[in-house]
Amino acid sequence: MSDEHQRGAKKGEFCGIPGNPCECGNDYIKICEPGWSSHTFARLVKAKAGKFAFEKKYEAHHVMCVAPVSAEVIAKPAIEGVVKATKWCINNSDNMLAMPLWGHTVMWYCDITEDGGEIKDDSPAPPFANIPQHDWDHNCKQGYTWEIEQEAKKLADKLKEMGHKAQPKNLAGALNALSSRFKTTLATRGGRKGGTHKMFIDGASDSEWCHPFSMASDGKVTSKGFPVRSFDERVAKWIKRIAEAIKEG
Ligand SMILES: [Zn+2]
Ligand SMILES: [Zn+2]
Ligand SMILES: [Zn+2]
Repeated sequence: MSDEHQRGAKKGEFCGIPGNPCECGNDYIKICEPGWSSHTFARLVKAKAGKFAFEKKYEAHHVMCVAPVSAEVIAKPAIEGVVKATKWCINNSDNMLAMPLWGHTVMWYCDITEDGGEIKDDSPAPPFANIPQHDWDHNCKQGYTWEIEQEAKKLADKLKEMGHKAQPKNLAGALNALSSRFKTTLATRGGRKGGTHKMFIDGASDSEWCHPFSMASDGKVTSKGFPVRSFDERVAKWIKRIAEAIKEG
């Protein structure tokens, strides 16, 4: 998640570095600020100097992720010419998507104070309903990042085959098409099983309740115990974490 933003590369006109802003002037966080950015949760940080808490906002997800674009496109010597000549910025708004973390969902559905918390049964859907969670199956085996890696490899191979005929518009056009396709993919995934709200509230007897929360394809979803009625550890742990952060903050 956030560590991917330490990476990235710039080659000629091609900007693959997340920036606030990057050389193109795009701030990858601000550029995708959603209407629900005021929904935060208290996140505890355990640093050497001591514990502290901050209000965690949405996460800014690069639809075509920084690491696979760097490794499979920017770093490939065989397509260096076309990469250098292509004016494309990884932080462009069509490649950015604001996503919640599981902590945002727990915060939305639970009353949490420094003494602990419980799930509210009457919560309406959050404004970030039907967006998968950025910390669920992003980097799992054959999860979201893996899919982007495959597409980036295919694209680089295609450009290599085109040889000197490969034009900047081929690379930029293909990347834009992939951004758009994977935004749709994530929206579709967030709507699986009737969506995140339906599954958080009534998914108890559904073994696939986690599907809308996951960034991965159907077969690669990491299953977790249903949180509401059995009040599983995953929620309890997060309530504890947020409560502790409220106490610190
Ligand atoms: Zn991401
Ligand atoms: Zn990113
Ligand atoms: Zn840029």
